[in-house]
Amino acid sequence: MKAKKTPLRTCLACGRQATKREFVRIVRTPDGDVVVDPTGRRNGRGAYVCPSTECFEKAVRKNKFDAALRVSLRDDDVERLRRDYEQALEE
Ligand SMILES: [Zn+2]
Repeated sequence: MKAKKTPLRTCLACGRQATKREFVRIVRTPDGDVVVDPTGRRNGRGAYVCPSTECFEKAVRKNKFDAALRVSLRDDDVERLRRDYEQALEE
């Protein structure tokens, strides 16, 4: 009995596990930018959050992105990410 395993990702904010298609991916590009990655295909260190602003805000409040992506996000970075994230939710 061999089930095909789908790798699970974990939401940074709430710890929920699911396949990556169910999450929004945030990635730190090789250039050091932190961007929302709706395609899930960009190179770089990635982190996943549920497609809900609640989880996004929680991750921001607890500096989860900084820890997961090894960056130090400034307020304007967070603003930009939030806009991109909300746009990704609408698509
Ligand atoms: Zn979550």
